[in-house]
Parts: sequence; structure tokens; C-alpha cells
Amino acid sequence: MRYADVIVDISLEKLDKTYQYAIPDGLSDAAVVGAKVLVPFGGGNRKVEGYIMDTSDTPVFDPARTKEIVSVVQGAVSLERRFITLAYWMKEHFGGTMNEALKTVLPVKQEVRRLLKRTLVLCAEKEQLEAYYATAVKRKYDARVRLLDALMDGKEHDYADVLQKLSVSPATIEAVCRDGMVALREETVFRNPVRGAFSSEKPRLNEEQQNAVEAVWKNYMQGKRETYLLFGVTGSGKTEVYLELIERVIRQGKQAIMLIPEISLTFQTVRRFYERFGERVSVLHSRLSAGERYDQYVRAREGSIDVMIGPRSALFTPFERLGMILIDEEQEGAYKSEGTPKYHARETAEYLAELTGATLVLGSATPSLEAYTKAKSGQYQLLLLHNRAKEATMPKVEIVDLRQELAEGNRSMFSRKLREQMQERLAKGEQIMLFLNRRGYAGTVSCRACGEGMKCPHCDVTLTLHKGGRLLCHYCGYESQQPKVCPACGSKYIGLFGTGTQKVEEAVLKEFPGTKVLRMDADTTKNKGGHERIVEAFAKGEAQILIGTQMIVKGHDFPKVTLVGIIAADLSLYAGDYRASERTFCLLAQAAGRAGRDKLPGEVVIQTYQPEHYSIVEAATENYEGFYEKEMAYRRLLQYPPAAQLLLILIQGEEEAVAKGAAVRIARVLQEAKKPEEGYGTVSGPVPAGVAKANDLYRFLIYVKATQYERLMEFHRIAETEKLLTEASMKCNIQFDFNPISGY
Ligand code: ADP
Ligand code: ZN
Ligand code: ZN
Repeated sequence: MRYADVIVDISLEKLDKTYQYAIPDGLSDAAVVGAKVLVPFGGGNRKVEGYIMDTSDTPVFDPARTKEIVSVVQGAVSLERRFITLAYWMKEHFGGTMNEALKTVLPVKQEVRRLLKRTLVLCAEKEQLEAYYATAVKRKYDARVRLLDALMDGKEHDYADVLQKLSVSPATIEAVCRDGMVALREETVFRNPVRGAFSSEKPRLNEEQQNAVEAVWKNYMQGKRETYLLFGVTGSGKTEVYLELIERVIRQGKQAIMLIPEISLTFQTVRRFYERFGERVSVLHSRLSAGERYDQYVRAREGSIDVMIGPRSALFTPFERLGMILIDEEQEGAYKSEGTPKYHARETAEYLAELTGATLVLGSATPSLEAYTKAKSGQYQLLLLHNRAKEATMPKVEIVDLRQELAEGNRSMFSRKLREQMQERLAKGEQIMLFLNRRGYAGTVSCRACGEGMKCPHCDVTLTLHKGGRLLCHYCGYESQQPKVCPACGSKYIGLFGTGTQKVEEAVLKEFPGTKVLRMDADTTKNKGGHERIVEAFAKGEAQILIGTQMIVKGHDFPKVTLVGIIAADLSLYAGDYRASERTFCLLAQAAGRAGRDKLPGEVVIQTYQPEHYSIVEAATENYEGFYEKEMAYRRLLQYPPAAQLLLILIQGEEEAVAKGAAVRIARVLQEAKKPEEGYGTVSGPVPAGVAKANDLYRFLIYVKATQYERLMEFHRIAETEKLLTEASMKCNIQFDFNPISGY
């Protein structure tokens, strides 16, 4: 008798362990590690689904009383062993249950019906066929005659065409098939989201690019698996390095995963991959249908593709022969999952590379402090690209102090410098990008008399105004109309605060009437293909100015853009978490990198209220090293990652007192668990979260800091156990975030 350890599919932490079941004889072939099964569970033997984690010959209980697996679920996608290992590692390192981790590494859960291409082909000998045909004519079987006519002309015919164009019924086709004259051939066709022309053109790599490629390749061929950080300024040709490396990996019979932050934003990059690898490349992203998604999964597993491009979940592509993982723009926040487990794709990729013997290449123009610190310490091998690939020079950057503008009487959104520059570019017929780090028509609405902000009744955040006077909560989706008078004091002077992309558009049209403007933000890109349409239109020169939020600064290559204006560089500094400066630096450097990508020289104007802030000063000169030193000094001082490791525990509950009570208890237990040795860790809190209430839940935070990640994992295990012990904490939703990147 064989036994299976099954993890049942109930997302209760209490049940987050395996249960042993006997495998009945009839299921011994199908009930293997990774299979999805149906098992009787609990006193009532309710049937629940689960995954087999392991199998063995030894029962852990009395075999007579061990329950049997009911069945193996048909049509379910099974888990490979290495993904089970990976899921376990993710659960340990990022929190959550094993079930949640398993669901994460299995991005496609259900088989989706395959598309079939059906063709009718002749299959009888010539003489037989002629006799059959003659009989059909004689008996006036007109439909059969039509079918045979068509087939004898061209040997084969599409099944659907036969039904529609020749109006032959399925019954007739079946009869002719049964008589052995014609056969129905069925082939699976895959939904292929990849379109685009194959192109044999590729640039000759310059010396820096060549050196980077060879550095990786030398080790690769010697079987030395390392992690590389390819640090190259914007436009230095990192993508060409990725393409060359992947081409070589494929030539060795291996496969590659290419992660990019959000695929729909950078389809220009994706197109370069199509052009190089044609049908052998595929994409995964949030806008694919379930069928498209499933087919990419199957094609990857069957080995009919060599390269998978996608966001962080593409890491779980089931390639048999994974040779290389590449992560472009590794500093991007999109690589950290917001759902549980809150994993980071970079660290997860490092472990997956270790499991599979693959090489990991990280690329960035503004590396994360984490990656650069590891590169400096030799954990990663640093590869540098100093120069832009094309004959382009770095853009000239100017910082404008908005306080000064106001003092001198300029109340417009554009500083005199920016307006002057815009005028000049428009006159020359060159293109301009205006960048604003905020979406919506305007920012928040507040009363000018009493200062009251319009808040969401369910969350502790201010509502944002959208077109048509709608006030929206970006946390819970609450919506209301803008009130006519202040609910607090009755004043009718309710006004907007801050600016949005729509307001920038209005200002442009007011100051430069008749200018053609495109706007790219969350509102204009809601529909499928929204980004592509806007990017394409701008690339074709259908507009002179492109206005947008951070989505316009990533990866796009517009050769005619010679001016980039940053309307207000401060907004992201107010985000209120320890990564605000890093994010600001990165956005500014990226935005600046959009100007002068080709032969035309570029200029950048950064407008700001904090012209002396180091993230702005260093971004203006693309001085990464300078920024890194200052920012690391700050992180060391306050013991923030990567100077230390940080675990954030979020406790949310319907009743404030209950949530707070649970949080206080967990904090105390962690305090007590702390050892006196230095560097063992500090526990602080609970404190109310920055957003103290969201979706009607009260939120409290506990911060745990330690020098070693392993220590945090210990604290996490203690908190996990503790949270199951009291009624108060059982009533709460408790989440763990290791080295968080966003504020709460
Ligand atoms: P990055 O990914 O570092 O931003 P890209 O790979 O997108 O840079 O390269 C920027 C531009 O330079 C692209 O238009 C690309 O086609 C071009 N380019 C890159 N490498 C070369 C090269 N060796 N010779 C000529 N053009 C190149
Ligand atoms: Zn008021
Ligand atoms: Zn809300």
C-alpha cells in the first residue's frame, strides 16, 4: 500500500499541514506528487480538494483507520516537485500559508478547453473513391457530391468551411467518414498572444556590451552559476545584452525567463523579443484570457517555446531546461507581490536559479539599494555600461525652484524656463513629454474656510476628485459626488488641492492653443491595448506633447522627444515611507532618460519645491553613486533595509479595541522572545498604521528589525503561532511583510 501526504485546500492557517491518506490501487498511476486530489476531511468526511506533497510506503497511523483518496481531479494542472520546494521556501521567507504559496507558484489552475483545428482529408484509394462518387451522383446524394468534389479538387478542406460554405451537415460528414472515404484530422492550435514580424536585423554590440556578455558567458559555459547586476545608464543598450545572452542560451538548448515590470507598459521592449525569436517566445500578463494563459503554460511545459516574457508571476513558468533568468529594471516595486505571500521576485529568482542551476541577470539604470549593496560586497558580479549606445549624449538637466517662481508672481503650472523651452520645441516640430506623478483630474478636495478634507467614510484617507465631480477612494472604491457645501462648517468655498494629468492637459491647451496632446494615465488606459494605442500614436507623431504619470517614463523609446518636463518632482517624496527618496530618484533619472534618445540633443526641466533635496540634485546629474552614499547613510542611521532587515506585521480588525489588544499581545510575545545578544532584533509598536482605517478595518503595525534575515524568520514563526492562541487575534486579519516596499 502507498500513502500520500496531502495538503488540503482550505486557507485556514490552523490546517496548514499535510494529512496522510492511502492511495487506492486504481489511482496508483495518477496519484503522484503534485497531483490535485479529492479527499474526505474531518468528522463528516466532507470532500475537499488538496495537493499531494509527498508519497511513501510507511503509514503514520493505523493503516486500518487511514482514509483513502477519493479521486484524482480531472482537468487540474498539477504541480511540479521543484515548485513545491519553491512554495515551501516562499512561505518560510515571506509568510502566509503553504496553500497560499502553492497557489502563487501555480499561476494556471484549471485546464482550459483546447482550440482544435479540424480538417477533412481524403483517405480512400482512387478507384474506390470513384465508385463511391458515382453511386452518390446516381442516388442524388447532393451534399456528399459537393463534399467529394471539393476534396478531390484540393485533397483537404477545413471542417468549419465544409459546414458553412458547402452547407454539408455534420451527419453527412459522419456518414462519409464511416464509409471510409474521408477522415477527420484534429490538431490542437495554441492561442498565441505573440504577433509581430520577425526581423534579422540586429545591431553590432559595442565594446561595453560585448564585455558584459562575455563576462556572463564565460562563467555560464564553465557551469559557474552566478548572479550579475548589469548597471547601465538609460539607453545604454541593456536590452541588446539580454537579447544576445538569451540567443546563446537557446543555442545551448536551454530556456530563459525574462521578467519586465508590467508587460502592457513596455510592449516596445516585447516587440524586440518577437523580432529576434519569433514563434519561440511567448508572453504572460494580466490582460491575457484564461485560455491564452493556459496555452502559454502548456507550450512552456511541452518545450515548444524557449523564452517567456512576463511580470513577476512568469517566474513560475514550467520550463524543463531553464538556463537563465533575467530581470529588467530590478528596482521596480512591481516585483514585490501585494498579495500573500508578499514575495519579492528578485530574491525568489535567486532561489529558483539555485534550485535549477540557472544563471540570474539583473539589469537596471538605477539599481535598488539592495542589489547595489550586494554588488559592492561581491555577492553579485557588477557589469557596467557607462555610455548610451547610440550617438546620443546625456541630456542637459535644469532644476527650477517653484517657490521662487511663486515669489516672482508666476502662478501657472509651468515655470518660465519650462514654458520657454516648450515654445521652442513646438516651434521646431519636436516632441515633449510632461511627467506628473499623480493620476486623476486633480488631487484632493478640501474646505478653504476650515481646512476640512473630504475623507472616505470607510478609510482614513482623503478622496480624490475625478471628472464629472466624482469623489473616489483609491483604497476601497467608495464613490460619492462632490458636496456643494463643506460638511463640517457649511462654507461653500470647497476647492481642489494639487494637480492631476487632466489639469496639466487643460493648462497646456490654455497656454499653447491648438497643440495636439495625448494623455496617458490610469483613466485613458483602462481598456485592452490602451497603452499601445497611445504609445503608437505618439511615436507616429500624431501629437506633440505626451502627458502622463509614471507609466510614460518606462522603457519607451521616442527618438523625437527632446524635452522632458517634470511638473512637480516632490509629490512622491511625500509618500511617507522610507523608500520615498529612492523612488523619487529613480523616477527622475528614468524620466530624464527619455529625453534625447537619438541624434537630437535632449533637455530636462525638473520643477520642484525642494531643489536642495539630494534625491533631486543627484538625479539631475544622474549621479547614482552620490545618491547611494547619502541614502545608505540615512538607512543605516534608522536601521532600514538594506542596512538592516525589517519585518512589518499588520494587524487589522473590525473593532479597534480588539485589533489593538491582539497587536499589543503579539508585540509583547515578540519582545519576550528577543535574546539579549546584540543585533538580535528590536520590536517596536504597535502603532496605528499610516492609513489607520481601511475598508472599515482598524489597522495597527508592529516593526521588527534585525541584522539577519533568519532572525526575522524566527520572529515570524513565533508570531504565527501566537496568532492562533488568542480569541482576539483569531478575529483579526494578520499579515506579514518582509522588507516592505510600500507604506501602510
Ligand atoms: P536600455 O535597455 O539600456 O535602455 P536599449 O537596449 O533599449 O537600452 O538601447 C537603446 C537604443 O539603442 C535602442 O534603440 C537600441 O536599438 C539601440 N542600441 C542598443 N545597442 C546598440 C548597438 N550596439 N548599436 C546600435 N544601436 C544600439
Ligand atoms: Zn469647512
Ligand atoms: Zn475607502
